[in-house]
Amino acid sequence: MNINENYLKLKASYLFSEIARRVNAYLAEHKDAPIIRMGIGDVTRPLVPAVTEAMTRAVAEMGCQETFRGYGDEQGYGFLRAAVKKYYEEKNVFIDEDEIFISDGAKSDIGNILDLFSQNNCVLIPDPVYPVYVDTNIMDGRKIVFMNASEENGFLPMPDASVDADIIYICSPNNPTGAAYDRKGLSEWVKYAKSKNAVILFDAAYEAFIADDGLPGSIFEIDGAKECAIEFCSLSKTAGFTGTRCGYTVVPHALKCGDTEFNKLWLRRQTTKFNGVSYIVQRGAEAVFSETGRKQIKENIDYYRKNASIITDALDECGIKYFGGKNSPYIWLKCPWGLESWEFFDLLLNEICVVGTPGAGFGENGKDYFRLTAFSTHEKTAEAMERLKKLADKKSKKS
Ligand code: PLP
Repeated sequence: MNINENYLKLKASYLFSEIARRVNAYLAEHKDAPIIRMGIGDVTRPLVPAVTEAMTRAVAEMGCQETFRGYGDEQGYGFLRAAVKKYYEEKNVFIDEDEIFISDGAKSDIGNILDLFSQNNCVLIPDPVYPVYVDTNIMDGRKIVFMNASEENGFLPMPDASVDADIIYICSPNNPTGAAYDRKGLSEWVKYAKSKNAVILFDAAYEAFIADDGLPGSIFEIDGAKECAIEFCSLSKTAGFTGTRCGYTVVPHALKCGDTEFNKLWLRRQTTKFNGVSYIVQRGAEAVFSETGRKQIKENIDYYRKNASIITDALDECGIKYFGGKNSPYIWLKCPWGLESWEFFDLLLNEICVVGTPGAGFGENGKDYFRLTAFSTHEKTAEAMERLKKLADKKSKKS
């Protein structure tokens, strides 16, 4: 037997294990240190009542002879696909129910979709980036070309006609930088993708955080995108489903390679390798789109938004440059005092017991940046920022 040797080309999953190693080493020396974690992109607010009530009803149904359900459709129950379809209609995006595939979250579909593409395809990925895009393509042995996201382009790289690509990753609003494309930016990408006969894999996991009017929450708000894009969305950050697991992927019929519809291939792939998301979770997900669910979820998102503004206000006071925070739960700051991201990480850990994520973990272009998340509590966020302000004060007195 042989293994897939591409797996040996993967870099060790360095980022979060290295963060944990450094935090544990610090705690070994400082037992009860009041660590505040502002690094990992997991939510802290519980599921909203509309969701838990719907799931409780579904649990009761599953325990009753008349309403028990076994295997469901691999692509998701009709009731949830209808709810997602309606949600898109609010954005003036009209898709058919059979273009929507319910999943157990965006991460698996983002990886699995690559089953449909030849290993000879060339992939265009921004740097810095959500590491899953890179690693899943390394696993398949595809050639990766990076495009620079930088302060100069507002962390929103634009297409370069001289660069060829078959698969293009766009994440907007972006993890880790918090930057979000406007319509004009996405239209340029659609135009480029069509000119190269390429497919855009559009990650909309943070669309619910968009605050600026007019910013697109879906690539399908752009004319022509149905012929060149697949969209992944998730209830993880929208509705606190990181532990519950549900998302959806939209594969339009209009997206074709020659005469072959990607939709048909994806359906074939899913019906072969996937057996659907649990009925109970899909009922919970349906409630996310109900009127009550939407109201309750908005309160949670507003809660995180308040944290983002606590962070950005503090950074303004400290004179630290940052990006994001307005249309995303991530604040991407330029490491101050001439430090690189791991040095800044160590400084925050050792001086103020605050843990964030070094930008170097998201790619070469992240090495001078640092990601803070708005997913903590108000109290911890405010306390962390008070500590940061004191540290900045100390630093400015020294210099
Ligand atoms: N896409 C991006 C950009 C993310 O940051 C994440 C999670 O952090 C995901 C996808 C994965 O989402 P899910 O929990 O639905 O798998």
